[in-house]
Amino acid sequence: MRLILLGPPGAGKGTQAQRLIHDYGIVQLSTGDMLRAAVADGTPVGLKAKDIMASGGLVPDDVVIGIISDRLDQPDAARGFILDGFPRTVPQAEALDQLLDSKKLNLDAAIELRVDERALLQRVETRVAEMKARGEQVRSDDTPEVLSKRLTSYRTLTEPLIRYYSERGKLLTVDGMMAVEDVTRDIRHVLRRSGVPASKFGVRRW
Ligand code: ADP
Repeated sequence: MRLILLGPPGAGKGTQAQRLIHDYGIVQLSTGDMLRAAVADGTPVGLKAKDIMASGGLVPDDVVIGIISDRLDQPDAARGFILDGFPRTVPQAEALDQLLDSKKLNLDAAIELRVDERALLQRVETRVAEMKARGEQVRSDDTPEVLSKRLTSYRTLTEPLIRYYSERGKLLTVDGMMAVEDVTRDIRHVLRRSGVPASKFGVRRW
């Protein structure tokens, strides 16, 4: 199964991706995580991305498209994947379509996690508090000021993807304001209802 998760920062994409990869035996490809790893390792991509990420802007399309293109070629992505944080712009979505076409692969669905924007700041504050409690390093972009910039980027550059995938018959929308388990249950439900047979998903049941 090949899925995209769409939604603003704090919508729960990473949380849901983690739950779905267990169910479906596929991998999570998070460009945010990959870029943070590149920053931590001080790679050329990391050096380019560091300040842009810290300020809440978007890393240039060619950089993230290159990262995803390489990652899709890794053997563990062959059974399927969930893209979390990519595509984030229409040019990225077009590049993904071309990449998948060239590999003769099909996208099953883009799942939109719809959330009330007023809840996002609270969610990010909770994430920060939880990371601190676990003694983890807090993300430099998880501050109220940077969150508001990330939301602006989302509205102007990423939200058009909802229409992009809707026009291509790929969009499935789920209410992201419910409890974590309920959101996962609804995602499974809309996937089943979307008509892709479960066997095609390679579902692992436990
Ligand atoms: P969130 O969705 O919670 O804002 P992510 O972890 O997905 O956070 O991304 C963090 C930052 O990494 C983004 O604000 C952006 O600077 C950069 N980034 C991640 N994915 C992309 C992408 N597809 N295109 C451009 N920049 C990206």
